[in-house]
Amino acid sequence: MKKLNAAIAQAWPRISVTSKLDGIRSWSLQALDTCPGSIESPGVLVDACKGCYATTGNYRYPNVKAPREYNRTDWQRLDWCDNMVQELLKDEYFRWLDSGDLFSVALAEKVLEVMIRTPWVDHWLPTRMYKFPKFRQVLDAMRALPNVSVRFSADSVTGEYIPGLHGSVIGASADTYQAAPGVSLCRAYEHEGRCSGCRACWDKSIDLIAYPAHGRKMSRVIMMKQEG
Ligand code: SF4
Repeated sequence: MKKLNAAIAQAWPRISVTSKLDGIRSWSLQALDTCPGSIESPGVLVDACKGCYATTGNYRYPNVKAPREYNRTDWQRLDWCDNMVQELLKDEYFRWLDSGDLFSVALAEKVLEVMIRTPWVDHWLPTRMYKFPKFRQVLDAMRALPNVSVRFSADSVTGEYIPGLHGSVIGASADTYQAAPGVSLCRAYEHEGRCSGCRACWDKSIDLIAYPAHGRKMSRVIMMKQEG
């Protein structure tokens, strides 16, 4: 009984901090395992996910993986929304899913509840779950909230996107977007890979964020794309 009580007492959402985001906190899941929208066809990932940053570098360390694995089932607890609201009491900005995706409608509905109950927080949630019709209702409800920026991620790594649908895209280089209307270019690369005060991803008035491709893995994906 003592052991059981200890386990219950420890149940709490695991929050992570990504250095890029100026210390802004995030609730995340394990990449790819929770990303049904990353699959183009059986055994084949969409281009953007082939070079996913969350499958390389620090993300491979056990201490980074462990909280993401834990969160995968922890959200099912009855008091998870209450815990998250409490956890966010002092946050001004929050990033959902620095890695992973909203793999379940029930999870998405709980995240929506947290967003509604934390109006003092600006939430940013990137996702590919818009590809599945059963998620559209809950994603539309999130998008209707004034404090929530839901960005539908394009699959391209060379800058192609659908205006009015996609809210973010990866491009081969910064030059791809210099003159594109309604597009804000992520300039973290000018600040040693950090946001440095930029909060464009949270800004609902910006239609599309374009991220210059970075990282060796992504470079290989783009090279193969261009060759093939
Ligand atoms: S666009 Fe701005 S807020 Fe978004 S990741 Fe880049 S630097 Fe950060």
